[in-house]
Amino acid sequence: NQEDQKTDIQEFKLEADQELRFEVESKSEKVYLSLKSGLAEVFGTEIVKGKLYEFTAGAKIAVFTWHGCVLEIRGKTDVIYVAKETPMVVYSNCHAALEFMRNEAEKENCKGPTVMVVGPCDVGKSTVSRILLNYAVREGRRPIYVDLDSGQGQISIPGTVGALLIERPASIDEGFAQEAPLIYHFGHKSHEKNTALFSILTTQLANNIKDKLEVNKRARASGIVINTCGWIKGEGYKQLLNNTKVFEVDIILVLDQERLYNELVRDVPDFVKVIFLQKSGGVVERSKSARAEARDQRIREYFYGTLRSSLYPHSFDMKWSELKIYKIGAPAIPDSCLPLGMKPKDHMTKLVLLSPNLGLLHHILAVSFCESGEDDIIKTHVAGFVCVTNVDIDRQLITLLSPQPKPLPNNILIMSDLQFMDSH
Ligand code: ATP
Repeated sequence: NQEDQKTDIQEFKLEADQELRFEVESKSEKVYLSLKSGLAEVFGTEIVKGKLYEFTAGAKIAVFTWHGCVLEIRGKTDVIYVAKETPMVVYSNCHAALEFMRNEAEKENCKGPTVMVVGPCDVGKSTVSRILLNYAVREGRRPIYVDLDSGQGQISIPGTVGALLIERPASIDEGFAQEAPLIYHFGHKSHEKNTALFSILTTQLANNIKDKLEVNKRARASGIVINTCGWIKGEGYKQLLNNTKVFEVDIILVLDQERLYNELVRDVPDFVKVIFLQKSGGVVERSKSARAEARDQRIREYFYGTLRSSLYPHSFDMKWSELKIYKIGAPAIPDSCLPLGMKPKDHMTKLVLLSPNLGLLHHILAVSFCESGEDDIIKTHVAGFVCVTNVDIDRQLITLLSPQPKPLPNNILIMSDLQFMDSH
């Protein structure tokens, strides 16, 4: 056994500009990383020498060094190797260009750069966004992170779009601190399900951020980094153009796909700079099941926290009569039956009041901040989420898993397509 443990400890000596890449797949394994000497970072966050970082199943990590370092890895990794070729110098040059623009913005007291990262699935869009945000915050900036990837987003839970003011680098094992995020309920993991609603939400989010930047000088000069999803064809491409407009994007970073780069150069106004970037050879493709597992993990963490900081959610019953549960999107009506003035897509953004039923079981419900008329519910951001763990038809009760004890901050709830099986 001791022999086994020994072989599970590996030391890696990295030269300048190299990175150690590793993956943890097995659910029963934990892998520990520590920096023995030199300087190193994980996706833009500096590692503290001597500290032990823990990684569990699903982790796909790159430890990069600008000056050389010695790293120690304990535990069984599925893949582990040192890469000599990385695009980090290019990403760092992007950061330097953004810093230049931030300095100018500071002098002129105007808005800093708004950068949108785009590309197909699995090219490292979230990672590049994270690196740019980490580098910015390490320079003392306070950038805003906008995540429009409702399938694999890094803010809140899947099925949402949102924004976060970044005040410190991401934690190496847990990502960015989720303090006071601005979250809108979308309700689907893929934008294709409701493009009309998605456009409304992005516009709403963009306007809300604009208002916030008016009163926060430091954030205003620091600018915005927008992460997008990998749907870049047809309607997905149109969404990217719409994002460019509503967020007043200054720079688009296109990862990996030259066709997308050329299309954007052709279609966006000249004052928007479009830049092509190579993807990192380390980015790992995720299977459908790995993506589903990652989504599930995010929801579980929302309610139960992480290994390092557990949360203890509450479970309680609510009477049906105490709640108003809505769904966004009514069944489609044939064009010939549409009321005068209604467009075929309008039904997708119609609010439908649901009578409690067994179909709600395991669904996530967003708790709205909305207090007034029905029209605002779609456009209002949300306070948080609960999960339906039981529906009692006889007693007309519904059991909710909630991060906070009863009462809920609001009785207006919106049903999400996403489900979560509470196995605790
Ligand atoms: P999506 O299609 O979900 O939008 P994406 O393009 O945003 O994906 P990322 O989530 O950034 O891609 O990266 C995919 C995976 O690859 C992540 O698990 C990330 O940790 C890993 N990864 C990114 N860069 C590297 C690297 N240089 N070495 C090892 N793993 C990496």
